[in-house]
Amino acid sequence: MKIFYTDHFVLPLPEGHRFPMQKYALLREAVQTLAPNSLFEAPAATDDELHLAHHKSYVERMSSGTLSAQEIRQIGFPWSPQMAERARRSTGATIAALKSALADRCGINLAGGTHHAFADHGEGFCCYNDAAVAARVVQRDCGIERVLICDLDVHQGNGTASILSGDASVFTFSMHGEKNYPVHKEKSSLDVELADGCDDDTYLATLKRHLPQIIAAFKPQAMIYLAGADPFEGDRLGRLKLTKCGLRARDTLVFETARDNALPVAVTMAGGYAHDVADIVDIHFNTVRTALHVYS
Ligand SMILES: [Zn+2]
Repeated sequence: MKIFYTDHFVLPLPEGHRFPMQKYALLREAVQTLAPNSLFEAPAATDDELHLAHHKSYVERMSSGTLSAQEIRQIGFPWSPQMAERARRSTGATIAALKSALADRCGINLAGGTHHAFADHGEGFCCYNDAAVAARVVQRDCGIERVLICDLDVHQGNGTASILSGDASVFTFSMHGEKNYPVHKEKSSLDVELADGCDDDTYLATLKRHLPQIIAAFKPQAMIYLAGADPFEGDRLGRLKLTKCGLRARDTLVFETARDNALPVAVTMAGGYAHDVADIVDIHFNTVRTALHVYS
């Protein structure tokens, strides 16, 4: 299994910025001890690839540093050359993970899951929509017709839903907090809204009811999984009450369902905002460990 990293592109964030950027390096260090020979530097997504899901003018503004102050505020990171390069690498990592999954059942991006990025703008710490780009790249390059995006980050995949609305070849499934960001939600192929305080049992039963059914009906040939760490009970932004054990059971359910259906899966980490960064890293690390176990 190939695991792609981008954490060596460090984003210069202003003092007091609350995004847990350090989680990526800590996660790679943890994965290094488990699977040292599986780690690869992520390639950069090309302009041609990004244009499959984004407006050319937006990619150009992002690349050249000519986004407006309003566009930068909406993304939530200050623009820097590292930020533009990191966004390309993170998207390239999901493309690479999905292509390697087609050959090897599963591939992992230790970042990605930037599902709040729209065709013409970014928001909520997301610049490019890696899942939408990767889905269209394998459709163009690898003879894949139908792709499932299984988004289990606690926030709705609004950018993904918007970019892929009207595209019947990509099924967008988002299971998210009803009361959570974004206030205005887009329409995915299937949105499942969860009440505040949702626990392990309710969450797992809901996922078990929907995921196998989607796979049986849509017959995807590849899947991109957003394994957000933010449904965790200790998350600052999550509002749900999943335990680490429940999140591991979620990952196991997704991977075993994919494996048993011979469905190649690319895994992305998506969000995670627990008070203690060690908890975020722990949850993401469990996702990687579970994938390695299920596909061993
Ligand atoms: Zn999130």
